[in-house]
Amino acid sequence: MEKITIIGGGLSGCEAAWQAAQAGVSVKLYEMRPTVSTGAHISGMLSELVCSNSLGSTQHNRPSGLLKDECKLLNSLLVRCAEETSIPAGDALAVDREAFSRKVTEHIELKPNIEVIREEVKEIPAAPVIVASGPLTSDSLSRSISLITGEEQLFFYDAIAPIVSASTINMDIAFRASRYKFENETHGDYINCPFTEKQFFTFLEGLLSAQRIPLKEIETAIPNVGLKDKVTFFEACLPIEVMAARDPLALTFGPMRPVGLRNPHTGQRPYAVVQLRQDDLADTLYNLVGFQTNLTFPEQNKLFHLIPGLENAEFIRFGQMHRNTYINSPSLLKSSLQMHSRKDLFFAGQIAGIEGYMGNIASGLVAGMNAARFLKGEQPLVFPLDTMIGAMHHYIANASPVNFQPMKANLGLLPRLDHIPQNKQERGFCHAKRSLNSLKDFLGQDSVNGDQNEKQ
Ligand SMILES: Cc1cc2nc3c(=O)[nH]c(=O)nc-3n(C[C@H](O)[C@H](O)[C@H](O)COP(=O)(O)OP(=O)(O)OC[C@H]3O[C@@H](n4cnc5c(N)ncnc54)[C@H](O)[C@@H]3O)c2cc1C
Repeated sequence: MEKITIIGGGLSGCEAAWQAAQAGVSVKLYEMRPTVSTGAHISGMLSELVCSNSLGSTQHNRPSGLLKDECKLLNSLLVRCAEETSIPAGDALAVDREAFSRKVTEHIELKPNIEVIREEVKEIPAAPVIVASGPLTSDSLSRSISLITGEEQLFFYDAIAPIVSASTINMDIAFRASRYKFENETHGDYINCPFTEKQFFTFLEGLLSAQRIPLKEIETAIPNVGLKDKVTFFEACLPIEVMAARDPLALTFGPMRPVGLRNPHTGQRPYAVVQLRQDDLADTLYNLVGFQTNLTFPEQNKLFHLIPGLENAEFIRFGQMHRNTYINSPSLLKSSLQMHSRKDLFFAGQIAGIEGYMGNIASGLVAGMNAARFLKGEQPLVFPLDTMIGAMHHYIANASPVNFQPMKANLGLLPRLDHIPQNKQERGFCHAKRSLNSLKDFLGQDSVNGDQNEKQ
């Protein structure tokens, strides 16, 4: 039987290698460190955690806790290693980072059917392969990926807009409307948060004085990969605080422009608006359109609650700008993490548009299992939509390909419950119970048709 090549010995690549090897397939795992550096990793060990040492909540009713429970059911190596090297951190699974990486490295290096090769892969091979090279994929490999995906489908940094939970938006203040469509004022595609002049200038003042992460760090973090348009893209995704600093009214002609909108609560055109756009198929999450920002999270938390209608909103994610190489998965991948146009090519981890340590482990698990199934001539697994692992992978394969942004585990990705408890904790437990039951049922099935949840 052919071997699987895995590019990248990070979180997703190691989990993928382990899962494929467990399925009886031989693996060649390429890791360029320590010979070639990413600029952020500091060791040569596999699965190094570059920043935080926390893999998120262990609470069963929290998204990350649920994902851990699911990965444990699926025999994740990395979650096991994390638990064995955990350190006290309340309700979070924090690890001794060195002990964690060492343990993963040992397991991978000792596995008889995994060969670890310390070498940079510069081109995608013409053989079964999982690309798991992460947000800091090397320049040569980025070039090779762009030849397969198309340059316009490969992004080099994130300009992530914040996301709010739809049920926490105050619709007595906000209103639904699409620009210039006055005839159907209750059913527009956008939720609009209207500002009076006074409210806008209060917001502007807060924005201009808010603490930022220095721009210099972002600019130097953009890799020089020699592909065209990267600087244009950066300029087109300016953070709102940079726009406002150039001209105090720039936002009212940009992302906060009120043209073509009338507030049905007052009958007036607002002075400015923040538009919220649906972010998920379940219609539970909305992103703030054009609101990429590089303010610190506490500043965003303070400032965005000044937006009329969002005073009590729950932010699922704050805005960020940072180096992040990822592909436009909705145009390129199936939920099985297989490419539409090349069935022996899989993407896993951050490069596939999955965010967060746990999400990246989960995606390695899916890619490893499915690449092994591919080699054995079996159908790929597509996990049920009401499991967190299934919902995340469904999202990256089926989200809007326009301005696709990486996504992390969150309850908003799961289908609505039949009965929604008022209490948030209780709601989380109901989701978790349904997800785990669904996953257990799924694993009980002998053969699974991989494409049953794919969009046509
Ligand atoms: C500076 C920084 C800080 C971060 N902090 C956090 C955080 O606190 N919490 C969090 O959840 N997420 C964080 N992330 C995101 C984090 O990278 C992911 O959650 C996770 O590590 C991604 O897993 P991965 O397997 O996709 O990539 P990685 O874990 O980065 O693994 C990719 C591996 O591929 C290797 N590689 C790259 N190119 C090649 C090549 N051509 N040939 C061979 N090997 C190659 C790299 O050396 C690396 O080891 C951070 C990212 C960055 C860049």
